Amino acid sequence: MKFGGALMEDAEQISNCASLVAERAKKDNEIVVSVSAMSNVTDQLVAMGESARLGDMEHVRTILAEIEQRHIETAEKLCNESTLCETKENAKKLLETLNQCLTGIFLLRELTPRSKDLLLSFGERLSVGLMRGALIMKGMKTMELTGGEAGIITDSNYGNAKPLLNITEVMVKDRLLPILKGGVVPVVTGFIGQDENAVITTLGRGGSDYTSTILASALEADEVWIWKDVNGIMTADPKVVSGARTIPTLSYAEVMEMAYFGAKVLHPLTVTPVQERRIPIRIRSAYAPKNPGTIIRETGDKDKIVKAVTSIRGLSIITTGGAGMIGVPSVVSRVFSTLAANNVSVVMISQSSSQANISMLIHNSDLEKALKALKVEFRNGDLVRDIHTIPKVAVVAIVGEGMRGTKGVAARLFNAVAEANGNVLCISQGSSELNISFAVVEEDVDKVVQSIHAAFGLDKA
Ligand code: ASP
Ligand code: MG
Repeated sequence: MKFGGALMEDAEQISNCASLVAERAKKDNEIVVSVSAMSNVTDQLVAMGESARLGDMEHVRTILAEIEQRHIETAEKLCNESTLCETKENAKKLLETLNQCLTGIFLLRELTPRSKDLLLSFGERLSVGLMRGALIMKGMKTMELTGGEAGIITDSNYGNAKPLLNITEVMVKDRLLPILKGGVVPVVTGFIGQDENAVITTLGRGGSDYTSTILASALEADEVWIWKDVNGIMTADPKVVSGARTIPTLSYAEVMEMAYFGAKVLHPLTVTPVQERRIPIRIRSAYAPKNPGTIIRETGDKDKIVKAVTSIRGLSIITTGGAGMIGVPSVVSRVFSTLAANNVSVVMISQSSSQANISMLIHNSDLEKALKALKVEFRNGDLVRDIHTIPKVAVVAIVGEGMRGTKGVAARLFNAVAEANGNVLCISQGSSELNISFAVVEEDVDKVVQSIHAAFGLDKA
């Protein structure tokens, strides 16, 4: 069971989460718990790191005091006399180390990816103690572990580390099985692991989801339950589409497409560890635990052709063009190598069949860097004659396995876009036919998404 930051909000909510664990554990289930940092704490750690690096220790101290107060207060509300002392003591020790870490960054005026991972690890290392306290109050035997202590060993790609699955599997079994056999509930920090030199790493923002499936796969668990503050995965962002509904069943592949295309439901790699072992993932609301939520498994429901419509904002289109590109295969590879070498990730690609131009969607924040790099790479001007850009665009994607081999989906889709008076800037569909994505200007996104949602009947059961 994984509990996200929104559920680790305060004592009352953490206690509610602990009840959900206790209730299931009493039914003879062995449960491993993994938790995120309290809501907003990871962002605060990022902010403190930036301030310390720039020399603004006053800002650091303000935030640190807030974090301290929140954790101590929550511990006081959660624990009774017998557990409070230890819980508070542990939190204080961690906060003191965090303070030293920030002083180090301040003195060096340097924040490397490696030290940033150490810094960000404090959120989960603090929250795990609160969950432990709450579980004890529900009468459970429990033990807290960091991701590394639980056996999650990763590469050293700080900020976005990947688990080394073979070692991890052996280590996790070795560490957690004896604990479980002893009737104890391990509480593991989400989001963090350690590399082979025992240096703390993080799995990328939102990585606690990933932690839960890494552990589940290693332990060959029956199921992964990801508790949220919403009822599962929705057909669209409910803030944009009032008729958005919970999707009962999704396949692993569908979820991966959705996570990629901006539905902020799960860390994009969440399903990868459990896919092979076919371990189902349930997404449920901690506020409505009886509600079945969404189940993610090998095959999704077949009754709907399109399952969801998602969007990503904050993108730009770069188009490279010129007659020189026609029939010169190396141009395409040079375009992408140049972007890769500069750490620019490409969200979507579309190429005209004349090969005379390629359009790529990238994040706004990468635009300047990408443009500069491409201009340098093609400075001769014989192959790529012009490079132009459209800022402030969004990608809209429809996702669903039912699209495969179904005729008329694209017609319905673009009809809906036209009805919303949206103008399509470029289009892409992979041959897996799992999604169709296209770009529109940012202002048009909401009305386009609403129109598509209605056109595919996603507001109806
Ligand atoms: N606390 C981390 C973050 O905010 C990981 C997570 O919440 O999943 O990104
Ligand atoms: Mg999350």
